Amino acid sequence: MDKMKRYIDAYIPTETCNFRCHYCYITQQRKFNNKLAKFDYTPEFIAKALSQKRLGGPCLINLCAGGETLLIEELIPIVEALLKEGHYIMIVTNGSLSVRFDQIIKMPKELLKRLSFKFSFHYLELKRLKKLEEFFNNIRKIKNAGASFTVEITPNDELIPYIDEIKQVSMKNLGALPHITIARNDVTKNIAVLSKYDYEEYKKIWSTFDSDLFKFKSEIFYKKRKEFCYAGDWSLYLNLATGDVRQCYYGLNIGNIYKNIDEPIETLAVGNTCTSPHCYNGHAFLTLGCIPEMKTPTYAVVRNRKCADGTEWLNETMKSFISTKLVESNVEYYKQEKQKVNLQNKKLRVARKINALSKKIKNKK
Ligand code: SF4
Repeated sequence: MDKMKRYIDAYIPTETCNFRCHYCYITQQRKFNNKLAKFDYTPEFIAKALSQKRLGGPCLINLCAGGETLLIEELIPIVEALLKEGHYIMIVTNGSLSVRFDQIIKMPKELLKRLSFKFSFHYLELKRLKKLEEFFNNIRKIKNAGASFTVEITPNDELIPYIDEIKQVSMKNLGALPHITIARNDVTKNIAVLSKYDYEEYKKIWSTFDSDLFKFKSEIFYKKRKEFCYAGDWSLYLNLATGDVRQCYYGLNIGNIYKNIDEPIETLAVGNTCTSPHCYNGHAFLTLGCIPEMKTPTYAVVRNRKCADGTEWLNETMKSFISTKLVESNVEYYKQEKQKVNLQNKKLRVARKINALSKKIKNKK
């Protein structure tokens, strides 16, 4: 049984989409710029840079764009190369581009077993574009081909009148209710929930979906993490097009994975210096175990659903892999190592602040 060595959250710098959801993080920040990701590296090179040998073992690689991930065809051979390298891949998608799913299901079954999709269920957009049937067909397509999936709704106030309708449609087509995430207002300082309802009311409305994803996210949302976090070592935030690596979303840049690919990768855990207001994507980072002392459900629990016909959204291979915790294949640091890591983070932050300031002054002159 494979155990996860690292979690790589890979950003695809596509910043456009065929949908226009009002609650989209990219829309909020007016970042839609019709930009499609461009890869200067071949799939073989990317797979070599992210080889199991270099990363230390099989990893879960989450592929998510700043728009629709599957808009670019170049991603398909990259996914295939990473699967051939033995990794487990999760692709975040709006599920509407049938042509891509038709391409993907042609991959060998052995590879598809390690592939999963996170279908974002944008109900109102799917209805407006008359793509609801196509969306469910694409889910059936990948399920029949042997890949795994999860379906997730970004709850928004406009969707509340449709809750019963969504539940009916979901039971009919998915055999289960979708999971529920938490919609964020990324332009607020504390990364607040995007809703006119107060938090308790919001939780009451959306908890009727009985989603383990929602339950866990609700528990950790708004809670600043102060424990020692191994993001930056056991997990990485990677720009898949450029190779730039950060510790986490708010973390420091710690190198470029496409430079010197025969050398070990550079890592630096965040430690006790996380600057994020709260761990809003902790349903992945924390359930996988970036903070090993935290008691959490497994990532499989927050992604899977059992269907009315007895089948599950995750196949056995994916389920067992994402049920593992990072601490099972990594060694926790000693007290002195932790202190050293914290000091290194603080020093680097100060050095980068001074650097940025002196650049600003230079530019003004
Ligand atoms: S606590 Fe969460 S947000 Fe902070 S560094 Fe760790 S994984 Fe990232």
